[in-house]
Amino acid sequence: MSIPPRIGFIGLGIMGRAMAENLLKGGFNVSVYNRDRAKTAAFARKGCAVGVTPGELAKMCNVIITMVSDPAAMDAVLEGPTGVFASGFDGNTLINMSTVSVAYAENLKKRCFMERVRFIDCPVSGSKPLAENATLILLAGGEEKVVKEAEKILLAMGKSVVYAGPAPAGTALKLCMNLIVAGLTSALAESAILAERLGIDPKLIFSALNESPALNCGYFKMKEHNILDKDFPPAFPLKHMLKDARFMLKEAAGRGQRLPVTEAIESLMAAASRNGDGDRDLSVIMKTLANDYKKSN
Ligand code: NAP
Repeated sequence: MSIPPRIGFIGLGIMGRAMAENLLKGGFNVSVYNRDRAKTAAFARKGCAVGVTPGELAKMCNVIITMVSDPAAMDAVLEGPTGVFASGFDGNTLINMSTVSVAYAENLKKRCFMERVRFIDCPVSGSKPLAENATLILLAGGEEKVVKEAEKILLAMGKSVVYAGPAPAGTALKLCMNLIVAGLTSALAESAILAERLGIDPKLIFSALNESPALNCGYFKMKEHNILDKDFPPAFPLKHMLKDARFMLKEAAGRGQRLPVTEAIESLMAAASRNGDGDRDLSVIMKTLANDYKKSN
């Protein structure tokens, strides 16, 4: 980008707050919008302008970054009379970092083309601590030249950019990555429950994992406290992984493919969500496993 970027960040949730802070630390000019205005107060104190609507924010900026929950939240900030598209954003850049479906990202690419907005389809791999440390992996789809031009902005929030190809390849890659995260989390949770049923301390699982050259994985370390202390403050809320698993299953089904393991994980997560755990960390599935999947015999 030849003109210095004036970044408008939309969505100051668990991930967005940390990512916007890292943009500020990187010296970028950042303005913000969040539906619940209270979350913008800390940014206003740091001198950031706050948009009363997404459209008002977009009028102050030449780059908009969205980091909101899901497609409905994306529509709420992009569409309608107070949305980004109604603000005369043509010629500028939209970087979507929220996880949406491949179909939604494909439509958004077309919508941006019609509005003459440059679009980067850039969800992220990594959770709250990686967002805070700016070590996210940025899964970028879009025109390679446009992604390259935005690289400095992206790298203020993460460790590296993996270029996936034209949009919606970033979202496609993100769903493939999250399939692995869902599998790893359910494997950990089931393994800990099995350990309890077998009368061994689940701590031993983590000791053995730590010693293993093959299985010594950062993600397992990140979830050790959740699993051992049965404490589930949200880093990656269950409701978001449930949404993503449903995207995976739908996109696969649309291409004639079943994903039987992901189907089972989706139904476990759906049960945990019905138990009222949607806002807790994904590892909370352990609680539903222990309570609802125990045969009384
Ligand atoms: P979060 O803490 O739940 O924050 C969601 C954000 O979306 C909030 O700013 C919320 O605004 C906004 N939002 C929701 N519905 C809205 C609507 N109808 N209109 C306007 N704004 C709306 O979520 P998060 O964990 O930061 O995740 C954000 C996205 O990144 C999701 O797509 C998630 O799947 C993805 N992701 C998350 C992680 C993770 O580990 N947490 C990792 C990678 C990717 P309010 O504050 O007003 O509610």
